[in-house]
Amino acid sequence: MSSVVESGTVRMADRVKELKSRGIDVISFSIGEPDFPTPQHIVDEGISALRAGFTKYTPSAGIPELREAIAEKLRSENGIDAKPSEIIVTPTKHAIFMAVLALVDRGSEVIMPDPAWVSYEPMVRISEGVPVPVRADEETSFRLTPELVAEKINDRTRLIILNSPCNPTGAVMKKEDVAGICELAVDYDLLVISDEIYEKIIYDAANHSPASFEGMRDRVITVNGFSKTYSMTGWRLGYLHADAGLLGGIQKIQTHSITCATSFAQKAGVAALKGPKMPVEKMVAEFRKRRDFVVRRIREIEGLSVVEPKGAFYAFPRYAFEMDSEKMGTYLLDEAHVGVTPGSSFGKFGENHFRISYATDMQSLEKGLDAVEKALGKLG
Ligand code: GLU
Repeated sequence: MSSVVESGTVRMADRVKELKSRGIDVISFSIGEPDFPTPQHIVDEGISALRAGFTKYTPSAGIPELREAIAEKLRSENGIDAKPSEIIVTPTKHAIFMAVLALVDRGSEVIMPDPAWVSYEPMVRISEGVPVPVRADEETSFRLTPELVAEKINDRTRLIILNSPCNPTGAVMKKEDVAGICELAVDYDLLVISDEIYEKIIYDAANHSPASFEGMRDRVITVNGFSKTYSMTGWRLGYLHADAGLLGGIQKIQTHSITCATSFAQKAGVAALKGPKMPVEKMVAEFRKRRDFVVRRIREIEGLSVVEPKGAFYAFPRYAFEMDSEKMGTYLLDEAHVGVTPGSSFGKFGENHFRISYATDMQSLEKGLDAVEKALGKLG
């Protein structure tokens, strides 16, 4: 574990919480957590399940009605030929962790974008695999292209991790890039984990699920969940889909780790998938307004530049000050009382950036960015 660093997002969020508990007025742009309540019909379903005594273990892979609803969603919305028996219901982060643990052997190489979500690399290290970052910063307009991926493939390569929309850059993969990477996976017999947790939070772009591409059904583990789309972070509910040939090892880890996902949360998950789409649409419309504001405001601040995000709820500005991003994170917390996640938490190419989660109210965004501008102004 000595080669594994603690999660930068969780660490920063904990620091912000700790400062707040001491009465310090900190604005948090740190963790990626929608500020909206979980929609009422979903909460009601969870409460009804509790009242009805649905409080015991469930089948390890999840309750049948939720696995059916997920398979139906994947078929109709993602074009994935999914069966309920190929779904494991589990917290999304745990889904990725189990897939990596099950599929990566000692010394196997795992290709992933850099910058990328803070936990992919540690998960690979915990599995004694070798993370192989591929540069996907401003130099490529945050694109993970098939050409760059191809350069990294060798006979130890086992897996490619994709995440679109991307945390932390907000980039959405173009269809041709997904298609090109899928072709590589087929040609070199590789597996893909596709983390689609921000699928619904997308602006002027479309999501393309790799498992729907030709020849990919048997080699993609598609991961998604309820935390971001339905503002259900605390319910710890998500899922993965994989072909039966890949599922066995993952399912064993589920039985030896969490046994099953929380019972009443699973009932609420059915309500989320089958219920009205309105709350999600309203939330995304609000995120779009905030995205527009945040991008405009960042571009007004001297020393900052930003590529407009096309999805998720993160902006990933680059700064032009002589300070590493860990120090910058601490500086902004101490000086501006604003919590951001240091760019280096997302990989080497995340250095000289910080991540702003704009899943927070407009007033805090205005106040927080004013404070950031003032603090950066002092650096000259
Ligand atoms: N994925 C979210 C984030 O990046 C939640 C925290 C985490 O799991 O890293 O902020």
